[in-house]
Amino acid sequence: GLPGKQPEREVDSLCPYCGVGCQLTFQIEDNRILAVKGRDGPANHNRLCVKGRYGFDYVHSPERLTKPLIRREDAPKARALDVDPANPLTHFREASWEEALEVAATGLARIRDTHGPDALAGFGSAKGSNEEAYLFQKLVRTGFGTNNIDHCTRLCHASSVAALMEGIGSGAVTAPFYECANSDVIIIIGATPTVNHPVAATFIKNAAKRGAKLVVMDPRGQGLTRHAHLHLQFRGGTDVALLNGMIHTIIEEGLTDPAYIERFTEGFEELKARTTAFTPERMEGVCGIPAATIREVARLYAQAKAAMIFWGMGVSQHTHGTDNARCLIALALLTGQVGRPGTGLHPLRGQNNVQGASDAGLIPMFLPDYRPVGDAEIRDSFEAAWGRDIAPHAGLTVVEIMNAAHRGDISGMYIMGENPAMSDPDQSHVREALAKLDHLVVQEIFLTETAAFADVILPATAFPEKDGSFTNTNRQVQIGRKAIDAPGDARPDWWIIQEIANRLGLRWHYSHPREAYEEMRGLMPSIRGISWERLERAGSVTYPCDSADDPGQEVIFGDGFPTESGKARFVAADILPPDEMPDKDYPFVLTTGRVLEHWHTGAMTRRATVLDAIEPEPFCHLSPADLVAAGIEPGETIRVRTRRGAIALKARADTDMPSGTIFIPFCYAEAAANFLTNPALDPFGKIPELKFCAARVERTNLE
Ligand code: SF4
Repeated sequence: GLPGKQPEREVDSLCPYCGVGCQLTFQIEDNRILAVKGRDGPANHNRLCVKGRYGFDYVHSPERLTKPLIRREDAPKARALDVDPANPLTHFREASWEEALEVAATGLARIRDTHGPDALAGFGSAKGSNEEAYLFQKLVRTGFGTNNIDHCTRLCHASSVAALMEGIGSGAVTAPFYECANSDVIIIIGATPTVNHPVAATFIKNAAKRGAKLVVMDPRGQGLTRHAHLHLQFRGGTDVALLNGMIHTIIEEGLTDPAYIERFTEGFEELKARTTAFTPERMEGVCGIPAATIREVARLYAQAKAAMIFWGMGVSQHTHGTDNARCLIALALLTGQVGRPGTGLHPLRGQNNVQGASDAGLIPMFLPDYRPVGDAEIRDSFEAAWGRDIAPHAGLTVVEIMNAAHRGDISGMYIMGENPAMSDPDQSHVREALAKLDHLVVQEIFLTETAAFADVILPATAFPEKDGSFTNTNRQVQIGRKAIDAPGDARPDWWIIQEIANRLGLRWHYSHPREAYEEMRGLMPSIRGISWERLERAGSVTYPCDSADDPGQEVIFGDGFPTESGKARFVAADILPPDEMPDKDYPFVLTTGRVLEHWHTGAMTRRATVLDAIEPEPFCHLSPADLVAAGIEPGETIRVRTRRGAIALKARADTDMPSGTIFIPFCYAEAAANFLTNPALDPFGKIPELKFCAARVERTNLE
C-alpha cells in the first residue's frame, strides 16, 4: 500500500504475471496505478512477489501503442528490427481503427480465399483472458477455417499435458499447490519456484518448516535447496534415468500400493517389464546420482503418508519431455500418491492464464475442454453451437507453424499478445519466417520484436484496463477487473477479435466479456457451475465445478480417472539422450529460463522501472570454476555460440551452476538467448528442447 496516503480509488483484481494467480488491489489516482497491495486470495493469502508488487508501471510506459499502425511501403521487413519501439513512425504510419481493421481483415481473407484456410495461422496468448482465448480460437476455426491455432503452452507444458492426457485423462493439476501443507514428502523437479512461482514457493517453504521432507531434483542449485532434505544435482537431460531408477526401486522393493494399482490403473505389468533393467546401480552411471540416494528417495516418496510432485520447464522443455512426465505420473500411480489430501501431480503453470487459454481451446488438436477436433461427433456439437464448419484435421503447433511460414506454406498470420521473435527457438530461422509472411497482423501493447515484422499493428489494452476471467495453476477461475482507462485508442482484445471476425463474414455481437464467458461455459462441462455472476461474487472458484452449489473440486481423482476405462495408464519411458550433446567444438550445455524480476520475453517487465533497475542487463551464468578455467573475469563480455547463432553478453559467476553448464535468461532482446536454442521437438508434445543444447563460450577481449 501507499504509506501515509489514501489513494483516490481501489480496484480488486489479479496479478498479470505468473500462474500462481495472486489476488491484489490496484491503488489508483488520476488514472494511474500508484501502488499495489496483496489481497487474501486462495493462492496468495495477501502475499505478493516482487513482480506483482512492483511490476505494474509498464502500463504507463511512453512506449505503449496508442494508435493502429500500418507498415510504410518503404520500410522493408528485412530491416524490421531497426525500428525503435519508442518511435515506430519511421516504419509505420498511424491509421484509423476502421482502416487498420479493414487492411488487417482483407489481407487475411485474401490468403484464405486464394491459398486455402491452412495458409493461415493464429497465435493467441496465455496473457489474455479466458474469453479472449475462446473468441480467438473461435475466430481462427470458424473465420479462417483452420485449426492452425496455438499459443505459448507449446513452449511450456505441452509435453506434460500430452503425458497427463494419455496417463490420467486430464491435463491440469490434480491438487492445488497449497495442498502441500498436508504432504509429508514433496518432490520438486525441473522447477525453480522461488524464481518463477515465488508465492507458491512460500507455501512449499512453510510445508518444509512444518516438517515435510522436501526433495529438490535440479542440475542447478536454487533457492529451495536451503529448505530441502535432499538436493539431487543430476546431470542435465537425464531425468528419465533418475526417475526410472526410482520406479525400479519401488517395484523391486515391494513399495507399491497393490490395491491402488489393481483398482485404479492399467499397464502395470508392462511398466514392470520395461523398467526391470533400470536398476539404480545402472542409472547412477547415467544421471550421476548415487544408487543409494536414488533408493533412499524412492523409499521416502513411496512410504510417505502423502506426497506431492511439482514440476516445471526443466522437465517439459526436452525432446523427452513427455517421457519425463510419464515417469512422474508412474511414480504417483505406483504408490497411490494422487487423489487424497496432501498428494498429487502439479505441473506449475507459467503464465497467468496458460491453464485457461488451453482449457478454452487455444490449441491445434483440441476444441474447448480438450475435446479432440478429429472426433466427428464432438465437431458436430461445436459446429451446431457456432453455426460454421470446423476443419476435421488437427492444426500445426507453434514451431511447426513457424517452419511452415519459412517454407511458404503459411503466408498469413494473426498474432495476439505473443512474441515468437523472442520466445521461439532458433531465432534466425523464426525471424526469417516472420519476414517472409505475406500478411502479418499483430495485436499488442508494445511494439515488440514480433510486431516489428507486422503489416498491421492493432493496439490492445493491458491487463488492468479490461475485465476478464483468468485460470491459475490451481484450476481456480478468478476475475480481473478494469482499474484504469486504456491510453489513446487502445482497445480490449475481445473487441478487436470481434471486429476482425465480423470483417471475415462472421456475425458476432458480444458487448462485454461476460457474454463470451457465458457462451463458453455452455460448451465447457468443467466450468458449468461457475457463472460470471458467481465469479464476480466469489472472486475465485475452482473447477471442475458441476453446478451452482458445487463448491468446486480441489483435490481430484480420488475415485478414478476421466479416461475411457476409468483407470489411469502406466506408460514406460526409455532412456534417450538430448537431441544435441556437447562435443569438442561445443563443450558446454546451455540451458535457458527466467529470472525473478523479468517476465518471459521482457515486453512488460523490461518496461517496469523497478524490476528493470534490479536486473537491467543480460548475463550468462557460469560456475566459478569454469570461469577460472576459461580465464574469464566476472563482468567480462563474452560470446556464447551454438550451431545456430551467437550472442555477446556479460559473464556472471554463479555457484548454483554445475561445471560444464551455462544458463542464460531469455528475456533480453539485446542478447536474445533463443538465437542459440535448439528447435528439435518432443515427438508427442511438440515442445522444443529449450533446456539443453551444446554451446561454446568465447572471450571477446582477445580480438
Ligand atoms: Fe504475481 Fe506470480 Fe508473483 Fe503472485 S507469485 S505476485 S501471481 S508473479
